Formats: sequence, structure tokens, C-alpha cells
Amino acid sequence: MNNQLYGHLIFELSHEGRCAYSLPKNRFGDYELQSYLRRATDAQLPECDELTVVRHYTNHSANNFGVNNGFYPLGSCTMKYNPCINEEVAAMPQFANLHPLQPAETTRGAQALVTLLNHSLCELTGLATFTFKPFAGAHGELTGLMVIRGYHESRGDLKRTKVIVPDSAHGTNPASAAVCGLEVVEVKSLEDGTVDVEHLRTLLDDTVAAMMMTNPNTLGLFEKHIPEIAAMVHDCGALLYYDGANLNPMLGACRPGDMGFDVMHINLHKTFSTPHGGGGPGAGPVGVRKGLEDFLPCVSPYQGNFAVMMRAYAYILTLGRENLKMVGPLATLNANYIKESLKDLYLLPIDGLCKHEFVFDGLKDKSTDVTTMDVAKRLLDYGYHAPTIYFPLLFHESLMIEPTENESKDTIDRFIEVMRRIAQEAAECPEEVKSAPHHTPIGRVDDVLAAKHPVVTWRQLQAETAQTEQP
Ligand SMILES: *Cc1c(COP(=O)(O)O)cnc(C)c1O
Repeated sequence: MNNQLYGHLIFELSHEGRCAYSLPKNRFGDYELQSYLRRATDAQLPECDELTVVRHYTNHSANNFGVNNGFYPLGSCTMKYNPCINEEVAAMPQFANLHPLQPAETTRGAQALVTLLNHSLCELTGLATFTFKPFAGAHGELTGLMVIRGYHESRGDLKRTKVIVPDSAHGTNPASAAVCGLEVVEVKSLEDGTVDVEHLRTLLDDTVAAMMMTNPNTLGLFEKHIPEIAAMVHDCGALLYYDGANLNPMLGACRPGDMGFDVMHINLHKTFSTPHGGGGPGAGPVGVRKGLEDFLPCVSPYQGNFAVMMRAYAYILTLGRENLKMVGPLATLNANYIKESLKDLYLLPIDGLCKHEFVFDGLKDKSTDVTTMDVAKRLLDYGYHAPTIYFPLLFHESLMIEPTENESKDTIDRFIEVMRRIAQEAAECPEEVKSAPHHTPIGRVDDVLAAKHPVVTWRQLQAETAQTEQP
């Protein structure tokens, strides 16, 4: 990063009296603000000229890392390429400028899009209908569990208060169940990483409302016993929920509805491409099988995150029926290629075929003291986003890699080469890895201090600096 402004806070660039723009002449006459609305003192805002402001924020934005900068193998998050045409479509003024309260007869196009996207998702998943109101996967989980609770309540079956969740599940699964007022019961995984069906059998009774499953699960492994699990869950009167965050490798291969799932969410921002680094935006439409339509609750006003829906529909149309079928197989091929190319140097706790992602348990050579965190930080020096680390919780040194279907063999080969080089560095010069990153604008951050004692405003920084400078 080569610019003298980098590292400054906008307040440090401030000069009294400088201004980035001029307000137009007052065309509205005098209006006295009531005294309780008036400031007693001036707002403490930075005073800068326009060019300084533009450079400041442009330089900061250049420090972001996104899919458009480089390889982004963040497991569980499906950081696939977000085609530019999605953005053009989402920005079309005919859609972007709609107001949610304008008369329905003037928004027919938007309504048609919702209907068409609903049809596409039903066809891809084998379910009956979707609601588009939830704003993310986690919001969809809560919505789906509300559907399930509503279903049991409608039958007067009020003792069903438990939700079974595999120990490999994403943290949002137990969190959503708890928010929905349900009790979480954990089902164990077998050595091979899939759900222990025998353990599950002991947990199922007439107090179970639902079982939540992710398939492929968060280890990237295909749960082979879904038909058997679905029969067991249904036999005890409960419903089966599908966490669709890992729908990507299933596209074109199989459908949750055909496997016996009753309710699911889709993370549109993952599987159907919307830039979602840093926490948003997202959409978590919830689909249900026939017979559950009436239990879909209204969890947000209007149509949910409409621009994400537009991107998803653009993506589906861009690929088309034939190419959508290639998404799953290519994502799976890429993940297996990386896994097989690195498993001599990185510990692969569960061998065998994975789907779109897989998990290493750190470096194979444990004598070097180099951790998953160190490997992740060192990758930044080589221009890669780090994989997901320390999740899932089944292993101590989880390093979870999801390449997606988009990457070329060249990109993947270069990544493999860098991962191998880091393993070599860990053996020959571990300090180099343990003190990484060396080439990023900010070096190794003290995560614990940052979390325990965040300094998030200029005034707080000033106050603390003044304090430490006191004799
Ligand atoms: C991402 C993810 C979620 C949560 O989805 P959000 O859209 O981030 O709320 C749930 N489960 C799994 C397996 C995920 O990967």
C-alpha cells in the first residue's frame, strides 16, 4: 500500500474551516428550531476538502479483500464469483426505485419476479412454495422452526419442545432453536463425520418437534442415511429441517424435497451469488413441502431483501437449466482436488470423498508449534483470503476450505503450491509463519484485546492516548 494518507484517521486530516461542499442558498425562509432540538455546542466533525475525503475512503476501500481481488476459500460461506450482470440487474431503476407502499398494480414486474424465483427454487429443491421474507440463513432457520412449531400447535401437539441438532452443526442452528423457545438436543457424529443414526434413535420420542440437518454437512460430507433418518423422524411425529447453506454441491444432483425434508432455507447470497463478505446483504427464503404452506409466518414487512432476490434470479437465468447442473459437480471436483493435493502435509481427519468443502485439522507435522491461525495469517502474505478456521468445533485446529465451482485449475494449482510452501516454512522457519502477516497494511492483530477492549471512536482513542501520555 503506497500512499501517505493510509493509516490516517479522517479526524487527523481535519483542518479548521475546510469544507467539502457548500450548502445551497436557503430557499425556504427562516425557521426557528425549537430550543430543545438545538445543539449547545458544535458537532465535532472532521473538516476536510472534497478531494481529501475521496482519497481517504478510496484508499481504505483498496484494503478490502473480496472475491474480485483473489481466491477466497472461506469454508461454509460459498464465496463464489458474483457476476457483474447481477449488479446491473439489481440496479435497474424500474426495480430499484420501487416503493414498497406504491399501488400493487404498478409493481407487477416485481411481483412476477417473486413468482418466477419461487418457481425456480421449488423446482431446484422439490418443495411446494417459498417465503422470501427472511433476511439471512439464520433468520430463515428461525422462520422454519416457527413453521414447525405452528404445525404442531395446530394439531394440539403441545409437548414437542425439543430440536435435535448434530454436533457438527453450524452455531446458528442451536441458536435459532433457542430463540424460537425450543430446547436443543445434540446428536453425536460417528468417526466418519456423519450423524450417528443409532444415537439418534435413542433421542426420538413424542417430545421432539424437529431435527435440523445440513447436507452435505459442515465437514463437507454427504449424509447417506437421510431416507432412513427422515423415516425415523417422521415416525415419531417430528419434522425434518434442511439447513440449505450447503445447497451448492446439490444443485443438479439431488433435491432436499425428494429426500424427505419438510422445511428448508436457502442462503440466496451463498448459492445464488450476492457479495456477502462482512455480514451482508443476504436473503434466507424458507421453503415448505405441500401441506405446510399455511404455517409460513410473516417475519418481516414487504418482500424481504428484494435486490438479493433479483441477483439470484439473474444468476439462475444466466446459468440456465443445463449449466446449473454443473455447479455441484465442479464445486465437488475442485474441493477434492485440493484435498488430495495437500493431505500429505495437512492432517485430514476424515479421509474419503468430500463434497464442496473439507476440513483439515491443521498441519500434519505437529512438532513445529505452527497453528491453523498461523497458516491462515501467512496466506494473507501470499494474497489469499484465509479459509475458515477453528470451525467446525469437532477438531482443535480446523481449517475449512471451500473453493467453489468458479476457480480455474491455474488458480487452484497456485493455491496448492502456496499451501505447500507454508507447510515447508513451518518446518524450516516457523517464526516466519508464526509472526505473519508481514506484507499487509496491518500486521498480526491482538484478537483478544480487540474483542475485550475495542476502541471504536476517535474520541475514545484521543481520551485513551491522553491518559497513557500523562506523566
Ligand atoms: C452460513 C451458514 C448459516 C447461516 O447463514 P447466514 O446467512 O449467515 O445467516 C447456517 N448454516 C450453515 C451451515 C452456514 O454455512
